Amino acid sequence: MIPAQFDYVAPESLDEALAALRDGGEDAKVLAGGHSLLPLMKLRLAAPSLLVDLRKVPGLSGIERDNGTWRIGAMTTHYAVVQGGLGLASEAASLIADPQVRYRGTIGGTLAHGDPASDMPAILLAADGSVTVRGASGEREIAAADLFEDYLTTTLRDDEVLTSVSLPALDGYGFGYEKFNRRKEDWAMVAVAAWVKKGADGSCEDVRIGLTHMASTPLRATAAENALRGGPLDADAIAAAAAQAAEGTEPPADLNATAEYKRHLATVLCRRALEQASQ
Ligand SMILES: Cc1cc2nc3c(=O)[nH]c(=O)nc-3n(C[C@H](O)[C@H](O)[C@H](O)COP(=O)(O)OP(=O)(O)OC[C@H]3O[C@@H](n4cnc5c(N)ncnc54)[C@H](O)[C@@H]3O)c2cc1C
Repeated sequence: MIPAQFDYVAPESLDEALAALRDGGEDAKVLAGGHSLLPLMKLRLAAPSLLVDLRKVPGLSGIERDNGTWRIGAMTTHYAVVQGGLGLASEAASLIADPQVRYRGTIGGTLAHGDPASDMPAILLAADGSVTVRGASGEREIAAADLFEDYLTTTLRDDEVLTSVSLPALDGYGFGYEKFNRRKEDWAMVAVAAWVKKGADGSCEDVRIGLTHMASTPLRATAAENALRGGPLDADAIAAAAAQAAEGTEPPADLNATAEYKRHLATVLCRRALEQASQ
């Protein structure tokens, strides 16, 4: 379908972009890679009156290491994340859709969009990452735990631009990423991200588990994390912890699977991701 009519600007500085957003009011929208927003507009599920394209705004792309944290510019593409050597995040980014989407879609766009079926939100959440945003009233940092509010809803304000992402590198952790979909390039029916840090005696010193598409927001598998942390890392302990992966989740039933099937998937994928992460 053809989108409703809209105005378009491509400012050359962040200040100009913020001014355009402010002047455009609540019907103005940031445009990044366009791979979520434009399909919604074509389906007439979104009808912004103004698109503020960030592609000419300098300083929003690139990946830098700052001590133990990766700082990733909001306009950094999924492809650049794949190439960036970011461990679990790079592996997950390589599984996003097809090359066309990975070349255009951005990490800032996927986090601002807040789709619980997207790969990066649960990863940022489980890693205890954060995003930096700029608005008319200045800059603020939002922890991932405070960012995802509901289905396609984040705590970003209409006049704010997400400028960068801080992703802890979790050096010394093993990781595993398990994504289940019917066709290779589809969104996850369920996905599980796991990091495990082994102690000197081989026990589980720390563990982080993120769940994709198990509720209206990304989730952490807190019960499974608590079951494993501080204990042995053998097959039985991993299986017992993974069996709790769906605790507290509310996966949406859809054409692909019932909620019950998704809960089952979460436990299986969690076990596999933990096994991989603890090798
Ligand atoms: C066929 C197809 C398959 C896909 N499969 C997957 C998949 O398997 N896994 C997955 O994770 N994703 C998938 N995606 C989505 C893809 O990753 C998108 O790139 C991503 O969701 C949105 O990023 P974008 O840069 O395209 O954002 P856009 O579409 O440009 O924007 C999305 C939303 O975020 C807002 N926004 C964007 N950037 C900013 C910013 N810097 N500050 C504030 N607001 C901002 C926009 O206003 C809009 O509301 C798929 C997309 C398609 C078309």
